[in-house]
Amino acid sequence: MNLNLKNKVVIITGASSGIGAASALAFAREGASVVVADVQIARGEELVSRIQAEDGKAVFIKCDVSLESDVKNMVAKTVEKFGHLNCAFNNAGVEGDSANTMMCSNENWDKIMNINLKGVWLCMKYQIPEMLKNGGGSIVNCSSVAGIVGFSGSPAYTASKHGVIGLTQAAALEFAVKKIRVNAICPGIIQTPMIERFTHGEAEVTKMLMEGEPAGRMGLPEEIAQAALWLCSDASSFVTGHPLVVDGGWVAR
Ligand code: NAP
Repeated sequence: MNLNLKNKVVIITGASSGIGAASALAFAREGASVVVADVQIARGEELVSRIQAEDGKAVFIKCDVSLESDVKNMVAKTVEKFGHLNCAFNNAGVEGDSANTMMCSNENWDKIMNINLKGVWLCMKYQIPEMLKNGGGSIVNCSSVAGIVGFSGSPAYTASKHGVIGLTQAAALEFAVKKIRVNAICPGIIQTPMIERFTHGEAEVTKMLMEGEPAGRMGLPEEIAQAALWLCSDASSFVTGHPLVVDGGWVAR
């Protein structure tokens, strides 16, 4: 399979940690020039140094995806640095506080929606015009298995991730003829700092989570990175508007 991304420029948001960081490394190893975008500066710059130490190409750009000015600047700086934009993995997201529909605070709702859903829309809003200039591109948006089924105690997170799939499919339809493919990835339970915050490192909570996992283990961030790579590469050239579930069988139960 040809996953070669030489001469491709990719923006990865939320790239200082977890799935984003594993993806930045994987894209760089396939030859892409990688924009590591995140709110966490030190971790992001450290990752860029690691990629460069492997002879990869990467730059860090600070970007809060919920702020339009940051997103606009991220895309402009990418083109300034690397000349064009071919791919994007709009991965940044937060889990927010756990609280049921009745107890979810307005602040929690707004924060989750602004980062997880509005952030993805803002990214596409500024990435698509640059891709149109190149005659096409590939965008991957990060949803979740919570974009496919409901998660009790996480109404805003569930709604935001369902929204990401809708947004992905609308954009896919709008730009298919212009050769911009737009897909979503729906990770299952993946071993990242987000999941560690959720389980608080407690063995009992982790065990409970694992009981619902047919594969009997958590996924690795690298396994999501491989899916993002495939969706950004020409190997998936006829795939668009698709929510790709990568979950060890979790939603198939
Ligand atoms: P993670 O380890 O917490 O990494 C997320 C990164 O995004 C962090 O560096 C975080 O910074 C950053 N970020 C937060 N808000 C941001 C903003 N407004 N703008 C830019 N960057 C921001 O999480 P992860 O598990 O890798 O999650 C990545 C994506 O996968 C998320 O969209 C998540 O919803 C999705 N997902 C994860 C799982 C899972 O099991 N891990 C399952 C399904 C879907 P801070 O550290 O400051 O927050």
